[in-house]
Amino acid sequence: MKRVGFIGLGFMGGGMSMNLLRVGFPLTVWNRTPSKMKLLLNAGAMGAGSPREVAESSDIVIDIVTDSPDVEEVLLGADGVIHGAKPGTIVIDMSTISPSVTRRIAEELGKKGVRMLDAPVSGGDIGARRGTLSIMVGGDAEAFKDCLPIFEAMGKTITHVGCSGMGQTVKLCNQILVGMNMLGVAEALMFAAKSGVDLKSCLTAVSGGAAGSWQLTNNGAKLLKGDLEPGFKVKDYLKDLRLIMEAAAEVNMPLVGTSVVQQMYRSLDAEGLKDKGTQAVIRAVEKLAEGKLV
Ligand code: NAP
Repeated sequence: MKRVGFIGLGFMGGGMSMNLLRVGFPLTVWNRTPSKMKLLLNAGAMGAGSPREVAESSDIVIDIVTDSPDVEEVLLGADGVIHGAKPGTIVIDMSTISPSVTRRIAEELGKKGVRMLDAPVSGGDIGARRGTLSIMVGGDAEAFKDCLPIFEAMGKTITHVGCSGMGQTVKLCNQILVGMNMLGVAEALMFAAKSGVDLKSCLTAVSGGAAGSWQLTNNGAKLLKGDLEPGFKVKDYLKDLRLIMEAAAEVNMPLVGTSVVQQMYRSLDAEGLKDKGTQAVIRAVEKLAEGKLV
């Protein structure tokens, strides 16, 4: 079995790496804040002291960190993967970052004979724990084939969507859908509340029809409990919205709906809600509606 390295044990990486251990991959892990490695080490993973050390003991190195500069740091930085990887190593970046930065990093790694796949995910922390993520992969088709058993340990819908950077582009499409959907859920529930409808009945009634969605089922249910705790944080979604707008500018594409979503989420940041979950958009909707959902 291939030796796998894993960098970044946050909300997503914690669950995803645990699923790799479960199916039996020999796993070496590293996290910037070492305390987050404990659970994995107790479950049988080996610990490393840096991304470079992870690469030294792995055939395939996965990273899932926050933004483009963070991926550059763990892959190309002073103690980065590039300094420990041997020719033939495959790097899989599963973070959501810029498609153009992805292509640049892939080129740098390529100079050392290291192939890189961009494989961002969708399905939230719940999907990460359950191993049911959607994984959209860009990069070399052979490398994709070699990594399929690894993807299958973490996800259910695994799609090779094209060359380097295309996985990230498809993920940005996903994030356009996620944001408009979440805003729709918040507005619909607030409208129900203002109109005196029982929220639980409303959610049950609309979930099974044409308006049913992941956001409605998962974040809609959280909203009814007044739960704003993060699976996916507002500040990370604002990062994705920035990436979407930058990529859309590159192809000269106006994104009207997404612009509204971006302004709503920006207002949450101004209200000090950036560490809450994306369902916190309800606070912006409540403000406009001069009401409270629950
Ligand atoms: P998170 O819980 O905040 O975890 C971020 C991880 O990245 C942590 O392990 C953090 O280390 C590490 N990190 C960040 N910057 C770093 C740097 N410069 N050097 C080394 N390590 C660094 O975030 P998450 O929710 O797991 O998200 C990770 C990625 O997945 C993001 O790109 C996000 O957009 C994407 N994503 C998230 C979700 C979701 O629902 N949460 C869904 C799909 C995709 P520390 O522990 O030291 O902070």
